[in-house]
Amino acid sequence: MDCDKCDREAVMHAAYSGSHLCDAHFAETVERRVRSRIRDDNLLPRSATPDDPETWVIGLSGGKDSVVLTHILDETFAEDPRIEMIALTIHEGIEGYRDESVAACEELAADLDLRHEIVSYAEEFGVRMDDVVEDDPENMAACAYCGVFRRDLLSRYAEEFGADKLLTGHNLDDEAQTALMNFFEGDVAQMAKHYDASLGPFGDGPDARTEGDDFVPRAKPLRDVPEKEVALYAHLADLPAHITECPHASEAYRGEIGDLLLGLEENHPGARHSIMAGYEELAAMAAERYGDSGERETKECEECGATTTRDRCRKCSLLDALA
Ligand code: SF4
Repeated sequence: MDCDKCDREAVMHAAYSGSHLCDAHFAETVERRVRSRIRDDNLLPRSATPDDPETWVIGLSGGKDSVVLTHILDETFAEDPRIEMIALTIHEGIEGYRDESVAACEELAADLDLRHEIVSYAEEFGVRMDDVVEDDPENMAACAYCGVFRRDLLSRYAEEFGADKLLTGHNLDDEAQTALMNFFEGDVAQMAKHYDASLGPFGDGPDARTEGDDFVPRAKPLRDVPEKEVALYAHLADLPAHITECPHASEAYRGEIGDLLLGLEENHPGARHSIMAGYEELAAMAAERYGDSGERETKECEECGATTTRDRCRKCSLLDALA
């Protein structure tokens, strides 16, 4: 099958749009979607100037999503004096996994001549995920600990680096999975947080500063691009992405939802896009409802000073349990 836009051979077919594209035109559509999202979410405000540039911290894990995001941002903005970019990698301390993906991050950052910072659970918290999994004092899935620690470091370091935005590589499948999980769990409060944290106007919602959210506004410029297309882009561009799965990956429910979504998408192309369109609207309404209710009063964690809804934030409670 030929490409819809030229006479070269198509490398992909997108059932949801009906398009067949060659490698060059496919790459162009991925990049265009990311740039449109940046524009539509107003990530680069008019106030950014060469004298007062925006600082974007990019969460770079070394997986295909964050590597593709970093590559496209660099292609688009490397020469733009209104933006400064810093790649931030979190080292969780996972044998046989994280060292390799950190190497992929270092290779990419060196290729792009990008400032790259690495912070580790070991140095910051005195724990490694491998030990956390072994101790497991709260009888929880590994990702439940890891998510709390990672969010803390991402937001803390984004603030420290003076970030105006924290950009992460969540793709369309990730976002549609999260949306469905929130629906199926009946978690409307979480939908409100999701809106504040990533989907809606930045930082204004009263809920935007509860524990687990980031003080620095978050953005997900890849969220219109399906996971398979992100993987194909990484492959075609020969990017140094690390593809091994974390040995502690434990989000079984997310995997189940992911399979469900893939089945839905196959039978009803465009299902993920429709889910997200409806979800964004509902999340905005939920944010308004929960914001007005004032239910989630915040205070400072008595241990570390982080903003939280309890006396001690979740990270400090987990670290106490692990001590
Ligand atoms: Fe951490 Fe879970 Fe990701 Fe592994 S899969 S790095 S344990 S969040």
